[in-house]
Order: sequence, then C-alpha cells, then structure tokens
Amino acid sequence: MTNSLYSSQRRDSLLQPMNRLKQSNINCFECRGVCCTFVANSMQITPLEALELFLFLKQQKRWSAPLLKSLSSTIKNYRLDVEIQTHRSSQMRKTYTCPFYTEGGKGCSIFPEFKPYGCLGFNPLYSGCVGEGGCESDISKLSVRDNIWSNKEAMANQLIKDFCKFSWDKLDIPRALIEVELVVQNFNNEFFVSVARKLEK
Ligand code: SF4
Ligand code: SF4
Repeated sequence: MTNSLYSSQRRDSLLQPMNRLKQSNINCFECRGVCCTFVANSMQITPLEALELFLFLKQQKRWSAPLLKSLSSTIKNYRLDVEIQTHRSSQMRKTYTCPFYTEGGKGCSIFPEFKPYGCLGFNPLYSGCVGEGGCESDISKLSVRDNIWSNKEAMANQLIKDFCKFSWDKLDIPRALIEVELVVQNFNNEFFVSVARKLEK
C-alpha cells in the first residue's frame, strides 16, 4: 500500500538534489543531527504526510504500543498540545526532539521516500558540516515540488480530512500520528484507493 500513494514520485524533486549533494560528499554523516532535536526541530506535516508515515511504520511493523507511548511522551514533554496564540489566527510552532531521531550518528529512522517534505529540503551546505548554521532549507526546491503536486495533494488532503474528521491542515509529527491512531480502525482498502486516485498522474 505504501508505494501506491506515489510517495517516492512525489518526493523525487527533493530526493534527486539530495543525492547529488551526497555525490559531492555533502552529507550529514559527521553531524549528530541537531536539526531533528528540540534545539531546532519544529517540523509539521499534512494529513497526507501523516498517512504515508503511518503506512510506512505499519509496513515496517513499527506501529506499536511503544511507538504510541513515545509519541505521547514527546507531546507531553514538549507541551505540544498546549497551543500559544501569537497573532489573531496563528499559533506558535514549538520545537521538539523528533521521536524518529536516533542519537549517535544514526540520525533519522524514516526512509527518505516517506519523510516529511520539509525534512528532505533541509540539508548541509558543505562537506563535513555539523549543523551550527551550516545548513538551510532549500525553499526553491520545496516550492518546485509543491507546484508540481499542490492540486493533487490538496484533493488528497481534503479527502483524508473529511474521512478522518481532522480539523487541522498541519501538525507536529507526534500529534499528527496520534490523530491517525484515533481513527485507524476506520481505515479500509476503499479509503486508500480513493486517496491514491486523487494523486494519480
Ligand atoms: S541537515 Fe545539518 S543539522 Fe541536520 S543532520 Fe544534516 S548537517 Fe546536521
Ligand atoms: S522525520 Fe527524521 S528527518 Fe524529520 S525531524 Fe524526524 S528524525 Fe528528523
């Protein structure tokens, strides 16, 4: 099921430049992954990204009670469910250590084809980088991807929101996955096929 949402194709315009960086020896190998910790990470994902992550974790047999406990602990520890209003309609994005971050040089435990787009768009600028301002989000490449897929993804996101009764467009990773857990018993093949149809080329 994981491949049928075109996860890899929809990330292709981010994965290719990432691979080119790697070929130039520009990678994260020497870094401890500060961008995935509470120091810098405030990643938020759409319902579609959350569904893909769920399917990936399910396929990997990692959708489990310990994982759900870890998601809940992250929410509690970083007070992600306590919303702070900044302007009339916007809320402060909080930082948190991602539950999929593994310390000690291993970094992210999610396959690139299923990572949030924002994670793929954030890369070091030079060889041997260890964070500390030496990395940036490639806004133009993220925009290219968005422009290619925005219409189809908007339809898929709306379908998921309607089916799951989600009231959000983006949430931090732990809360988005907990929201998925709350409706997981409603998922059926028809639902996944309908989402995939919205994303068809
Ligand atoms: S993107 Fe930058 S901060 Fe994040 S792991 Fe790579 S080198 Fe480190
Ligand atoms: S999904 Fe992976 S790359 Fe993204 S914040 Fe979490 S650990 Fe980091």
